[in-house]
Amino acid sequence: MDFTLDEKTNAHILKLRHFIKKELQPLEEEVEAKGILDSSLAAEILEKSRALGFYGMNIPVEHGGGGFNSVQMVYLEQEMGQTTDPLVRRAFGNVYEVLLACNEAQRQQWLIPCVRGERTCSIAMTEPEAGSDSAGITATAKPDGHGWVLNAHKCPVGDGMFSDFYVVSARSENVEGSRGISLFLVDRSMTGVEIVRNMPMMGLRGSTHVEIKFDNVKLGPENLLGERGKGLSLLLSTIGRIRLFHIGARAVGMGRKVLQLMTERANQRQQFGKPIGEFQMIQQMLADSLIELNCAHLLVLDAASEIDRGLDPREKVSMVKINSAETLGKIADRAVQVFGAMGYCKDLPFERIYRDCRVLRIYDGTSEIHRMVVSRGLMKKGVENIIGNYLAN
Ligand SMILES: Cc1cc2nc3c(=O)[nH]c(=O)nc-3n(C[C@H](O)[C@H](O)[C@H](O)COP(=O)(O)OP(=O)(O)OC[C@H]3O[C@@H](n4cnc5c(N)ncnc54)[C@H](O)[C@@H]3O)c2cc1C
Repeated sequence: MDFTLDEKTNAHILKLRHFIKKELQPLEEEVEAKGILDSSLAAEILEKSRALGFYGMNIPVEHGGGGFNSVQMVYLEQEMGQTTDPLVRRAFGNVYEVLLACNEAQRQQWLIPCVRGERTCSIAMTEPEAGSDSAGITATAKPDGHGWVLNAHKCPVGDGMFSDFYVVSARSENVEGSRGISLFLVDRSMTGVEIVRNMPMMGLRGSTHVEIKFDNVKLGPENLLGERGKGLSLLLSTIGRIRLFHIGARAVGMGRKVLQLMTERANQRQQFGKPIGEFQMIQQMLADSLIELNCAHLLVLDAASEIDRGLDPREKVSMVKINSAETLGKIADRAVQVFGAMGYCKDLPFERIYRDCRVLRIYDGTSEIHRMVVSRGLMKKGVENIIGNYLAN
């Protein structure tokens, strides 16, 4: 496989790298210390990002997006991974691909403003009693003759405080399991939508994760996204690319940054009269990190190229989700070790990265759930049909 990029994409990646270094990375420590990104700064970085063409890069050109394919997006997202989640969200938004299921009227109201960076949205699936079991929700959308009446309790909803609207899953049909669930576009300003609280997390300071109640929210037929009763499969069919980009590629990007800093430290830090990089146990940490990171890098590109070739690499997407999350976790842990006391100290970013990356094994499907997907796929399809897709027929 050839993952070489064309000149135009290459130039865009370098421009993005420069933007992140110049505009976002200098804000990281301030956001961490304050727990919030100043709203005027947020507006400023959004404006600059839009002007440079960094908004909605994953969305097809006909909807006003960048139109980058999956392999190109992986490289772009690896750059985004080199800064923090709250800054990525403010600069590049949450343009979820499930919004591509909008019909023409919905496109103007919900999708296009999102692609333009004028509005932003969150996905509200998880409930206090339904996390991994996303079909086990108790949220209901009852037909009322005209549209629907939504009752739901969702948490945590990532970026929920900042979002203008939510894509909410609710049971609309009298059928058990995933087939009775639909998705609804719900504006935050609608009567009955209440953000109950922000839920403080271990890391990701500067992002919000909220608990939201939807109490008898009256929705019209125009609020239904996609087909009735097919919401969960719609969401799951679009979430693969998002998992590859937001978790797979970003984790590799952050891993690259951390490993580079570890390597510089191993060269510079002297103990017992020599650089610590000359000690074999430090060398092992560096070597293992590079091996695992390169494997993670290739795995995410491999899955992305299958998507671009029109295949459905769901096991590979799950493998990426598990592997990138766990690889970054191991590298962040080794970075703390290589930096010693300074690795544990808040003067340097490693303790923050160590906390921030822990969530990658939990959200967007836990590592356990993704291992289930991988092993079920393996037992059903066999090894060759998952990793042997390269032979010409
Ligand atoms: C920071 C953050 C942001 C989030 N943002 C959003 C968001 O924007 N929108 C949204 O809808 N949700 C969001 N979530 C929720 C997230 O998707 C869920 O946390 C995740 O799906 C796991 O659900 P749970 O936390 O309820 O864990 P549970 O499902 O209760 O699982 C608990 C443990 O049991 C294990 N487990 C469960 N079932 C099985 C099984 N069948 N086999 C083996 N092990 C199993 C899990 O792997 C886990 O280790 C967010 C969570 C966090 C932490």
